[in-house]
Amino acid sequence: VSLPIHDAVLGRAAEYGDTPALIDGAGELTLTYAQVDAFHRLVAAGLAGAGVRKGDVLALHSPNTVLFPVAFYAATRAGAAVTTVHPLATPEEFAKQLRDSSARWIVTVSPLLASARAAAELVGGIEEIFVCDQAPDGAGVRSLQEFLGSTAPVPEVDIDPDRDVAALPYSSGTTGVPKGVMLTHTSIATNLAQLEPLAPARPGDRILAVLPFFHIYGLTALMNAPLRSGATVVVLPRFELDTFLGAIQKHRINGLYVAPPIVLALAKHPAVADYDLSSLEYVVSAAAPLDAALAEACSARLGLPPVRQAYGMTELSPGTHVTPHDAENPPPGTVGRLLPSTEMRILSLDDPEKDAAPGEEGEIAIRGPQVMKGYLGRPDATAAMIDADGWVHTGDIGRVDEDGWLFVVDRVKELIKYKGFQVAPAELEALLLTHEGIADAAVIGVTDADGTEIPKAFVVRQPTAPGLTAEEVVAHVAALVSPYKKVRAVEFIDTVPRAASGKILRRELRDRA
Ligand code: ATP
Ligand code: MG
Repeated sequence: VSLPIHDAVLGRAAEYGDTPALIDGAGELTLTYAQVDAFHRLVAAGLAGAGVRKGDVLALHSPNTVLFPVAFYAATRAGAAVTTVHPLATPEEFAKQLRDSSARWIVTVSPLLASARAAAELVGGIEEIFVCDQAPDGAGVRSLQEFLGSTAPVPEVDIDPDRDVAALPYSSGTTGVPKGVMLTHTSIATNLAQLEPLAPARPGDRILAVLPFFHIYGLTALMNAPLRSGATVVVLPRFELDTFLGAIQKHRINGLYVAPPIVLALAKHPAVADYDLSSLEYVVSAAAPLDAALAEACSARLGLPPVRQAYGMTELSPGTHVTPHDAENPPPGTVGRLLPSTEMRILSLDDPEKDAAPGEEGEIAIRGPQVMKGYLGRPDATAAMIDADGWVHTGDIGRVDEDGWLFVVDRVKELIKYKGFQVAPAELEALLLTHEGIADAAVIGVTDADGTEIPKAFVVRQPTAPGLTAEEVVAHVAALVSPYKKVRAVEFIDTVPRAASGKILRRELRDRA
């Protein structure tokens, strides 16, 4: 689909007219489709008037708000590539991304203005900082809202969708330094078109955007896909359990796109019983491994069809697999089926030149129109990721059953090598969570006194089980697995550190260990 992203998403906005497109879940503001369409053009005109030109990089530094999409599509319409920034990035982290991406413009929100200014000062070369919301008096910045009264012409930028970068998200940095991922208009628009027939958002759907728009999963599942389909997106700035559950109840949310920690909360947290969640029709999970038993506990508790999983990565715009909404009986634990016009191989873990035997585990490799253009300024890293034949080596281990359902085991890099055996942390984490006294858990490999790598569990106790001991934790897992997979060290912690996308930050646990 060779279209600029703003046209691919908002092309049908006129048709949806007065349908609410975005609702502020914490406040009162609602934007209709007609408004999103009109506003993003006016803001594009304002940005062009300010000097934004084709090929410029604009950093969008904001939690989820109803104006986030307006700013995003305005920037791409003005010809810029948008690099989305974690709203809680420190000025140093933000500055690093500004420098790496050569950004020249910043759009932020007034509560984060000081941090954006500090970052801009660290790098220099930023032309102008805007805020989306009302600028505080005397702040000396323009609000994008000033542009809503503008009579400047809407820019007609000559965008080449197949070549021009629309979005420059950074990978989560789970396995190393976050890398800037160049996604063209076409790769994003094509991925939306690939997903649409299988995981359709419909007009009338009410979707809760609690995962961040700045990460590729939220950007796609919570912003681009529903706004292309005429659904209504209720926006929350962060995940906080009571606000989240309250928003489902108040706004009669029917569709949730979440990550495993939220599935865990829905399955286990006592507060869930205090809310009327009867409007929910489906739950989709992606971004990290989700255990089948946990998914089942969630859907059973809410009285819903099985939690449907999807799989992808920033470098793949991001989707490669979804569980079709009308799939009769997807096997428990699957992340879904391959999207149309996408190819997959499962490469042998012993010899990556060869395919693994049918049904066997191996590294997932993907080829298709949704593959990134490359990492910005990192030809070496790009070449390590995309081989000469165009295959992306995902670094994830998976297997495919005879009906074509993919199961993701874990990342190659996370596997713990215990005396020559491979242990997947995700498997142990899932087993730990089956203990009633365990609220949350994460597993990493640590080196013991003999120099052997062993699985170590970091465990958060349920409030109802303050006396849970390390021995009980070890025994619980040992009863369920082969001896080589036993958890061999346990530490109790208050919370498992996670990225905004829901991934366990094992780096932080490693530093702690
Ligand atoms: P970095 O590449 O910077 O280390 P990252 O890989 O975490 O960070 P993302 O692009 O946000 O950055 O995440 C993609 C990864 O998320 C995939 O490679 C995979 O490991 C994981 N993932 C996504 N969906 C699923 C899923 N349904 N089940 C298991 N893992 C998933
Ligand atoms: Mg990655």
